[in-house]
Amino acid sequence: ISQTSGSGSTDSEKTLALRVDSQDSQISDGESNERTWPRQNSLSNREWDIPFDELKIGDKIGKGHFGTVYRGNWHGDVAIKVLDMSYLDNEKTLEQFKQEVAIFRKTRHENLVLFMGACMKPPRLAIVTSMCKGMSLYTHLHLRKDKFNMNRTAAVAAQITQGMGYLHARGIIHKDLKSKNVFIESQNGKIIITDFGLFSVTKLCQGNRKGDSLSIPPGWLCYLAPELIKCLKPVSKHDNELPFAKTTDIYAFGTVWYELLTGEWPYKGLPAESIIWQVGSGIRQPLPTLFSRDVKDILMSCWSTRPEERVDFTKIQKIVEKLPKKRLARSPSHPIHLSRSAES
Ligand code: ADP
Ligand code: MG
Repeated sequence: ISQTSGSGSTDSEKTLALRVDSQDSQISDGESNERTWPRQNSLSNREWDIPFDELKIGDKIGKGHFGTVYRGNWHGDVAIKVLDMSYLDNEKTLEQFKQEVAIFRKTRHENLVLFMGACMKPPRLAIVTSMCKGMSLYTHLHLRKDKFNMNRTAAVAAQITQGMGYLHARGIIHKDLKSKNVFIESQNGKIIITDFGLFSVTKLCQGNRKGDSLSIPPGWLCYLAPELIKCLKPVSKHDNELPFAKTTDIYAFGTVWYELLTGEWPYKGLPAESIIWQVGSGIRQPLPTLFSRDVKDILMSCWSTRPEERVDFTKIQKIVEKLPKKRLARSPSHPIHLSRSAES
């Protein structure tokens, strides 16, 4: 792994200077018809245009990869993600943003955030979605330290796999599946997945850049499949995207599954260099507690070093839906440790 070091920052905030080596991939395998999209959709996208002035922008909710998210109003409560595009300098990057919006707008599934429209006139670029009423899985697990019982764990995972399975069936790669992008509605426990298909805009966003290099957002590495991590290289310029694929989404789901089971992140507290080395070498974080074979098998399959060995979302959904009946945890008299921590 060619990896460079960051400066003496703390482990969770480690910043690395990187270039992203690229093969494509906006759209997944076998979707060649999607490649003609940008031109065709430039026109049809207009019906999803929202004039920036029509938005009532309220309190800032937070800042992430893509820019800043505000509470807002546009014919009702909405979340407005304003992209920081102050240095948007060419048509290509704008076209790329429009292409990502075009992907976003074709999604309709009850476990996916509702896309409402976008402001597409630079420098005011924004994406408007429904407001998620509830907390993110990240907040539940890592901030509030909520403990999920086996039924709840399986119910959350099943809904994530439904939403993700739908995206994959439509040829859309999420590229940024993580517990911060999964919300649990407070009223009914419904799962809402956000931020799918928008990852390439990250590299346009100033908050994510340090001079000419890309910084690794804290907590991002543990969602990256080894084949993505191996493409992170130290250089000053990065015009290309990481080779995201359906299988890299499945790897990321493995990490979410690990979080759901343990309430922790894998490789917690380790410096970025160490995570990169371990993932690249096939060393996986063992499950600290005792779980049934099905539970562990899901994790090992998602985290498999070989992408083709990762089980797809439709299959994961079927396994997960059967779990509550089977019991997640083994009795202590039958300890089974996650022994395949180092895969070949
Ligand atoms: P990240 O995904 O890394 O948290 P984002 O830019 O996506 O970064 O989000 C910034 C903040 O806005 C986060 O606190 C997130 O929970 C919140 N947020 C994003 N989208 C929505 C939404 N549709 N509804 C409610 N809150 C949202
Ligand atoms: Mg997000």
